[in-house]
Parts: sequence; structure tokens; C-alpha cells
Amino acid sequence: MTQLICQECRKRYALNERVWKCLCGGLLDLDFPSTFPVKKIQKRKRTMWRYREALPILEDRHIISFDEGFTPLIRVNFQGKPVFIKQDHLFPTGSFKDRGASVLVSIVKETGIPGVVEDSSGNAGCAIAAYCAKGGIPCEVFVPESTSPGKLAQIRSYGAKLNRVFGSREDTGRAALREAENTYYASHSWNPFFFHGTKTFAFEVCEQLGWRSPHSIIVPVGNGTLLLGAYMGFGELLKAGVVQTIPKIIGVQSARCAPLHRAFIEKLEEIPKIDKQETLAEGIAIAEPIRGKQIIRAIRKSHGEILAVEDREIKDSLESIGKQGFYIEPTSAATLAGLSQYLKERNGDEIIVSVFTGHGLKATEKMTAILQEKTGSPLS
Ligand SMILES: *Cc1c(COP(=O)(O)O)cnc(C)c1O
Ligand SMILES: [Zn+2]
Repeated sequence: MTQLICQECRKRYALNERVWKCLCGGLLDLDFPSTFPVKKIQKRKRTMWRYREALPILEDRHIISFDEGFTPLIRVNFQGKPVFIKQDHLFPTGSFKDRGASVLVSIVKETGIPGVVEDSSGNAGCAIAAYCAKGGIPCEVFVPESTSPGKLAQIRSYGAKLNRVFGSREDTGRAALREAENTYYASHSWNPFFFHGTKTFAFEVCEQLGWRSPHSIIVPVGNGTLLLGAYMGFGELLKAGVVQTIPKIIGVQSARCAPLHRAFIEKLEEIPKIDKQETLAEGIAIAEPIRGKQIIRAIRKSHGEILAVEDREIKDSLESIGKQGFYIEPTSAATLAGLSQYLKERNGDEIIVSVFTGHGLKATEKMTAILQEKTGSPLS
């Protein structure tokens, strides 16, 4: 039976206790046995829910889904070397956060929770708001004042209550935490169910490569929802004997907000306090990643590393990927900048998977500003 389990004191909770954090303050994980009946899976609809036995929802009727997932994994050439890119910018709300939102909002439905609160720099708020709309669940989203207007419009369109916090991303998290005292925190960093959605990234990559692991995956890391989900997903596949190895996990941070990069490079026990600066990669600018230590552990265990990229490199990656016909948001381009760094030291026979995390149409104002700066003249 599925239970929640505290990372610190190992206390266990049943699902109907509706907790998202341990009484001791510790982070919760799920104790849930996944299985992968491969023959059955291959006959099902091409959505992330085809890995049904690995997703912690009891009854199908509680699943809140737009038939999302199973996004195309395509071969793209970077610096003359082939890389596989998972097109997760093609999700219903325009980012991979839908993976986590679909599972999290389904468990909210299943356990009869009457309403949720979430905080986000934008995309997670969009995803939780959309799935709550589909499930008829009241939803309140806190965002920092700097969030792109397009994302604010998207959250509002889904009918969520939007709270703009006049302060930093960290102030926004604290405001949501205060609100969550009285309701349920559908947090993409605290809530373990979110990660049991993002883990489907690993299942899909594995299946799309012919049921094997790539040698390495290169993913963004702010709060680590995709990174930890992928690590968890490959771990479950390994445990079930579907794959024989897990890939090296390479996380990419913006150099202007890189607490995990520093902790990794300097082998620190704790995630350091950093001086956060503004960056084009707003979606990974997380100064205080709640699961920071868990992220570092996952990267070390997989023999991976963390890279930091400058805004200059992000702009270059955005420009060059656009010229290959892909429109992604600046945060997504940070990952590609990391991929470029990584490829410089590789010979080309490694199977590498990376990801487009968010659609360019979400960040029209930012894209416009970047192009104007480059050409020195207004676009219109
Ligand atoms: C959320 C997000 C990220 C970073 O994910 P984390 O969970 O914070 O590591 C990267 N790119 C986009 C487009 C995002 O929305
Ligand atoms: Zn505890």
C-alpha cells in the first residue's frame, strides 16, 4: 500500500492524512511499488498514463488528464554531434510541469482535498491551475511580481485565484507556505506526488530508445523537479529489471543563480546562501532549492555533474536553436547552453538525451526584448 515517508525521521503517513510535509518539518517521499508490464504498456494510448502500474493513483476515475505526455524524442545535431531532444515544450500548458501536475491533481481528487495552493515563477502555476480547472478543484497561485505577463494571463484564464507577491521568488514561497497552513500545498518542490509525475520523463525516454537507458541526460535544475523525477524514474526501471544502468545526470544552472553548482563543485554539506542576480533563465533561478541535498545526492550517485551557464551563452543557444526551427523560452535555452558545454568534451558515440522544457510562446515579451537588443531596433 502506498505511504508517505519522511526523509528525516522515517515517520510514515497514509494517503488519507493529506500531508505534504512531515510533522518534524522533513521532506516526504513516497513508498510505492512500481511495476512495468512492458507488453501491456506498448498496446496502450501514447500518453504518460500508459505506465499506469507505476503511477500512484488507485482508481482510474480519479485521473485528471488531457492525454498528455509521450512527447516526441527527436534527433538534433549540435556541434555536428547527434543528441536526442525530448520535446516537453509541447505539453498542454506549454511546459513539462504538466507531468507533475497531472499526478498531483489526480491524488488531490482521489483523496477528496477541497482546494489547493501553489507558488511558482510561472509554469508550475500554469500547470496546477489547468489541471485543477479540469478537475473542478479550487486553486490559488502565488507568483512573484517579475513573472511574465503571458504566464499571468494563462493562470488567470484557467480560473485560478492569482496572487502577485511584491517581492522575490523566495518571498513568494513564504507567502504560499503561510496560506498552505489552512489548505493543501500542491507544491512542485515539497509535494512528493509531483515527482511521481515528472518521473514519466524517464519511462518515455527509456521506451523511445527501445527500452534502454541513454548514457547521459542533460536537464535544467532549479528546484530539481525534472532532475529528481528522472533520477527516480530510471531508478524504478533499474529496480524492475527493465534497464541495466541509470544514465549520468547532468544538471544545468544559470551562473547568476547557482547554489547547487557551488555546493557540488566545492563539495559542501549544505546548500550555500548565494547572491542571486537577475537572469534570462527565470524558471531555474531558485536561490533556496528545498530538495537541494537530495539533488546533489542523486547527481553524485549517477556519476553526473552540475554545469553553470552565463546569460551570454543562453542567448547564443536560443538564437541557434531558433534557426533550426524550434521556439523555446529562454529558461529552456539554458539547458542547451549546458549541452553545448558538455559536448565540447565528448567524442560523439555517447547516447545523450536533453529536453526542451518550455514553449517560446510563453515568453513573448522576453523574446522580443532579446531580439531588439540584438538588432538594436524595435520589432514593430
Ligand atoms: C520549472 C522549469 C524548469 C526548472 O525545473 P525545476 O523543477 O525548477 O528544476 C526549467 N524550464 C522550464 C521551462 C520550467 O518551467
Ligand atoms: Zn519527519
